[in-house]
Amino acid sequence: MSQPSSSPRFSPIMPTAVRPEIVFAKGEGSWLWDESGKRYLDFIQGWAVNALGHCHPAVVQALQTQAATLLNPSPGFYNPAMLKLAGLLTDHSGFDHVFFASSGAEANEGAIKLARKWGTLHKGGAHRIITFESGFHGRTLATMAASGKPGWEQLFTPHIPGFIKLPFNDLAAVERALDESVVAVMLEPVQGEGGVIPATVAFMQGLRRLTHERHALLIADEVQTGMGRCGDLFAHQGYGVQPDIMTLGKGIGGGVPLAALLATKAVSCFAPGDQGGTYSGNALTCAAGVAVLQTLLAPGFMEGVRAKGALLRQTLEGVSANFGLGAVRGRGLLLALDTGNRDAPAIVAAAREAGLLLNAPRPNALRFMPALTVSAGEIRLLGSMLEAVLAR
Ligand SMILES: *Cc1c(COP(=O)(O)O)cnc(C)c1O
Repeated sequence: MSQPSSSPRFSPIMPTAVRPEIVFAKGEGSWLWDESGKRYLDFIQGWAVNALGHCHPAVVQALQTQAATLLNPSPGFYNPAMLKLAGLLTDHSGFDHVFFASSGAEANEGAIKLARKWGTLHKGGAHRIITFESGFHGRTLATMAASGKPGWEQLFTPHIPGFIKLPFNDLAAVERALDESVVAVMLEPVQGEGGVIPATVAFMQGLRRLTHERHALLIADEVQTGMGRCGDLFAHQGYGVQPDIMTLGKGIGGGVPLAALLATKAVSCFAPGDQGGTYSGNALTCAAGVAVLQTLLAPGFMEGVRAKGALLRQTLEGVSANFGLGAVRGRGLLLALDTGNRDAPAIVAAAREAGLLLNAPRPNALRFMPALTVSAGEIRLLGSMLEAVLAR
């Protein structure tokens, strides 16, 4: 990895990430251009944020129209975009109520609060939440404590108490730990930052059964997996499981800061004053959310995502076979390729040089999270560009 930049142009930016010395100036669909005009095929998409790719006309149009009409009346008032998006989300999920936020961490923070309040009201003050090793739920203090990211154990101590960390896909461990003190189990249907590790169907369905039996809540963190990313509108639908609480982020705003906390009526127990946020239900970002969701709901769109997910998987399996790499894992358009003994961050750097943007969530894994609108031709181009990089 390169060192944080020492160039005076970049030095005012806090070095919270090791950034390449490239300045991106323009985007369209699956493509980004830097200031020098060099073009990159983007299979990162702002970490699965630009669900419809860069500057999709539906998102641009919604933002332009909303920006010229009403930005933000106040989180204490209703606005048409907020109501429209909440209606669409509840109509197309098993949830009844929505709280809008601006980031995935904020939505998850709300989910933790909601579960704790429910435990106070309905489970004798139970407040502990079972989460999983390698899980990622955000960067606020509570969501960091909920996460199982290696290396975070010693960071920003003392940690928020109340989380029990168990091995992922280990139902027996949950069965042992889920006692009267536990109010909820919280997981990503596919662990994204952890390296694209899907929950097994038996695990998801087992968690639903156990939480029902033991009067605890099931919280799906769908910040990365939701909004069509995994081939279903929400990934839990593909598991045949209905959680009590779901959080959304990333793709829901199509590139602008929007997130959501959804709950069933039985669990939705915030009273006025319990939860809020200056940008909650912001008209501008909700208008983008409406544009994204309406596009996903258009006839044939999700079938297209599933077909492209299958093509991407097949393409990566071909690359793997040609270069002796490992397995392809994930769901829909959230896939990872096991690079075996080849250094994934080095492949990412070489690919970037060649005009292909990828991400390595682990030292031996490449992650692919293209726009849901990626074309078959762009997926094939990714395959040939990746092979050219690997051949060097
Ligand atoms: C990205 C992510 C978050 C955090 O979202 P932010 O918008 O960065 O706060 C939480 N959970 C999951 C599963 C994520 O992938």
